[in-house]
Amino acid sequence: MKSHMRALLVSCSFRHLQSGSGLSCILVLSGISRIQITKLYLISRKSENYWQATRDSEREVAIRGGKKLIMIDKLLLGNYKFRESDFSPNIDHYRELASSQHPSVLWIGCSDSRLQTGHITQAKAGELFIQRNIGNIVPVHDWNFATVLEYAVVHLKVEDVVICGHSNCGAIRALDKESTDSYIPLWLNNAREAKVRVDKTISPPVTPLEKEERYRQIEKENVRLQMEHIYTYPLLKKAVDKKRVEVHGLYYDLENGALTRIT
Ligand SMILES: [Zn+2]
Repeated sequence: MKSHMRALLVSCSFRHLQSGSGLSCILVLSGISRIQITKLYLISRKSENYWQATRDSEREVAIRGGKKLIMIDKLLLGNYKFRESDFSPNIDHYRELASSQHPSVLWIGCSDSRLQTGHITQAKAGELFIQRNIGNIVPVHDWNFATVLEYAVVHLKVEDVVICGHSNCGAIRALDKESTDSYIPLWLNNAREAKVRVDKTISPPVTPLEKEERYRQIEKENVRLQMEHIYTYPLLKKAVDKKRVEVHGLYYDLENGALTRIT
């Protein structure tokens, strides 16, 4: 089995290993069944050692439990790069964040992997308190959501609450489908009213363009619906009535990267 992996990064909890025993440690701990290594780099850091193995000609073939070691190593390598290019140069900022957080925004968004909240808003770490779920939903009578909301409004004292929907949302399209799933249809019941409202105001779509436009309308209506839901939480309504908090609806377009207000 061949892998397209360009680098294998393995962290080891033993701090006093020499290179030879270190390699054995990597192979044993990671359960790598077959690996070809021609270069081995030890990158030392204060609290841990990272081993980075690369191969000159062909790429590594590394298998753990029958699974290629691709994504997790990419993530670890990405973290290493982040520490080098961002964390270290801004160490004062991150040290301050390590002791406390003072976000001014509670952001409620969809779990969709294409949405990177901090990236699309250029918000820095510490600025957004984030709750993400399928369909950017504000469920009524939900302990998980209520806890996030209470902590954000009462303790962190955020000034703005954002509910952000997006284009091509799988949750919204799923409202049209029959499902045998156990949990997803129940969760989506929190958004079903958005579909009902839109379908009452438009003719049944015929062309692909009309069908896409209908979904966009439901995605936006769903944001309005969730803005209604959030007012059912007394602590939020009280904060809004006292003008301590404002609730905003936003919509992110995956096609052009634009974030716009929903009114
Ligand atoms: Zn979505």
